[in-house]
Amino acid sequence: MASDVFCVGDSAGHCLPLTGEGIRPAAYFAQQLADLLNRERTGEHARPATRSAYSALQARYSRRYHWLRGAQRVLRGWPDPPIGWFFRAFEAEGRVYRGVSRVYWELAVPA
Ligand SMILES: Cc1cc2nc3c(=O)[nH]c(=O)nc-3n(C[C@H](O)[C@H](O)[C@H](O)COP(=O)(O)OP(=O)(O)OC[C@H]3O[C@@H](n4cnc5c(N)ncnc54)[C@H](O)[C@@H]3O)c2cc1C
Repeated sequence: MASDVFCVGDSAGHCLPLTGEGIRPAAYFAQQLADLLNRERTGEHARPATRSAYSALQARYSRRYHWLRGAQRVLRGWPDPPIGWFFRAFEAEGRVYRGVSRVYWELAVPA
């Protein structure tokens, strides 16, 4: 967010690290911002409140982005093997897939 310009999606860095999933976060933050701007339009609150609410919303997710960036850094440094074993186990959609998916969906927006 720069003065009165609100950024969502890739321009705001909302694309999720590790998976590169960007459509759902972009839609989520856009919807949240649209709600805030709509409430401002109807006089429920003024621009400074919109600005701080949108900043607070993004701050709520910063830890999740931090974790996913960390996971991306760690996985990028893995040699093959074991990275190949990991992805084959992941593709088999067994315990590894379920465990990793559960953590990802807990971290990924929207909560
Ligand atoms: C190769 C690739 C594959 C991807 N695969 C996936 C996937 O499978 N799933 C997923 O969730 N995400 C995926 N992503 C990420 C996802 O595409 C983005 O995170 C998402 O599209 C971001 O949406 P956005 O609206 O912020 O930006 P964009 O979708 O890039 O939209 C921005 C729009 O603004 C337009 N624009 C730019 N400058 C101007 C200007 N000056 N004036 C007017 N218009 C302008 C652009 O032409 C564009 O249409 C992928 C990205 C890439 C590059």
